[in-house]
Amino acid sequence: MHDVLIIGSGLGGLECGALLAKRGLKALVLEGSNQPGGCMQSFRRGGLHYDTGLHYVGGLAPGQTMYKAFAELGLLDLPWQRMDEDFDHVIIGGRHFAFHQGYEAFVEGLAKDFPHQREALQSYVQRLQNITAEDMDVCAYDYLQETFSDELLLNVVSAAAMKTELRKESLPLFNFAHTCSSYIESSWRLKGDGNLLVNKLISTIEEAGGEVRTNSKVVRLTEKEGRITSVTCSDGQTYEADYYISDIHPALLCQLLEDCPSVRKAFRRRMTSGENTCGMFTAQLCIKPDALRYFAHNVFVYDKPNVWTMTEENDPVKGVMISARVPEDGSDKLRQIDLLTPMPWHECQAWSETKVGHRGDDYKAFCQQKTEECIALAEQYIPGLHDMVEQCYTSTPLTYRDYLGSPEGGAFGLRKDCRASMLSFHSVGTPLPNLLLTGQSIILPGIEGVTMTAFETCSKITHENARQ
Ligand SMILES: Cc1cc2nc3c(=O)[nH]c(=O)nc-3n(C[C@H](O)[C@H](O)[C@H](O)COP(=O)(O)OP(=O)(O)OC[C@H]3O[C@@H](n4cnc5c(N)ncnc54)[C@H](O)[C@@H]3O)c2cc1C
Repeated sequence: MHDVLIIGSGLGGLECGALLAKRGLKALVLEGSNQPGGCMQSFRRGGLHYDTGLHYVGGLAPGQTMYKAFAELGLLDLPWQRMDEDFDHVIIGGRHFAFHQGYEAFVEGLAKDFPHQREALQSYVQRLQNITAEDMDVCAYDYLQETFSDELLLNVVSAAAMKTELRKESLPLFNFAHTCSSYIESSWRLKGDGNLLVNKLISTIEEAGGEVRTNSKVVRLTEKEGRITSVTCSDGQTYEADYYISDIHPALLCQLLEDCPSVRKAFRRRMTSGENTCGMFTAQLCIKPDALRYFAHNVFVYDKPNVWTMTEENDPVKGVMISARVPEDGSDKLRQIDLLTPMPWHECQAWSETKVGHRGDDYKAFCQQKTEECIALAEQYIPGLHDMVEQCYTSTPLTYRDYLGSPEGGAFGLRKDCRASMLSFHSVGTPLPNLLLTGQSIILPGIEGVTMTAFETCSKITHENARQ
């Protein structure tokens, strides 16, 4: 029998397994699909690795936001490469801006273009460094409007936050700030694929006697006298443990709790009534050899200063993130570029009844059209990109739904709403004392958010263990 059973091997599930392993507990991680890692997994095509949900990480230098956490998880030893000093470039309406690493350099860099907003920029970075839980109730867009009188600058500072869901009326400042701040501390790319990170966490789990099992989809949890006693997988196997952690979407978890009387309607309603964040469209381009020099920064290109309405009306594509992959052969020429743009579920709803590989020619044409639109925007930074492409692989919210089970293919789990923070942010606890939650839907998405949450989840178990 294992000490802890974890449902889902996304980043949060594996981090919990590894953290508990370091504290002497044996974890069994059950993963429904045939590959561990969730959004961290990579796939191989034509001899190259492609990632799904890993482009860059912030705050890995000593003393910064993610340093201690990654040190404890053993992830600092991976081949991280610091990105350019100007780590994010923003192009809006043809004008070019850059974000620099370090809060002072960040202010100075933008103050060159917006000298009249220097004080506002200073106040902004101060605020980013002093975010508290109270900022879950603060509307990010309102805060930015109060801070910046220049509408273009408001759009520029928000531009790289395309990697969260920029909704004017609901996005809490807490989420916006966490999406921006650690990258300003320092920004890093992995030389290699996300499986390096996944495999490192798995080996930590295994060294403590734990295990990660793929093709093990959990279909039911069983309760006795107010505690979970076992889980059952689709192949009929049952597993028991002292503690259970769910790293899956809370609405999916609720479906597995049908037979648990201690889970009352109010909890189920909270977990199932929340809206999902929008999905992402990704075009992963394999670039012809020697066609393009590697660049260690991301570029966010928007045709207009409409950064905050993109997720509602991104058809045709109005903004794109360009992320280059570190060349693994040490060459200064790159072979892979990802182009990402938000994609609401309704854009691919016409194919909602289809499965991977069988969506039909109209879906292929739709993806081709989106790719062309993304490339057209990206050409503002890389002229002639279209002719450099050797191969292209695309994914839509349908891909995330079918591979990871994420409802409506939401890229960042459940949406957080500053107008209803008590309902949209969740505690890691549940009505069942030995069932805990983790993963991107609970508090914050992204590598930083999921890691913070994994620490919180595990601290509940280690505290209770210490009390016994
Ligand atoms: C396109 C894209 C780009 C991104 N880029 C970045 C980035 O550059 N930097 C960054 O910080 N973040 C990025 N993110 C976000 C980051 O990848 C995610 O927030 C994080 O990986 C989510 O981890 P998670 O633990 O919530 O699990 P998930 O990745 O959601 O994994 C959940 C796992 O549970 C499994 N599962 C589901 N149901 C069951 C069941 N019944 N039984 C067993 N297993 C089950 C699924 O198969 C899956 O493997 C990106 C996300 C996307 C979509």
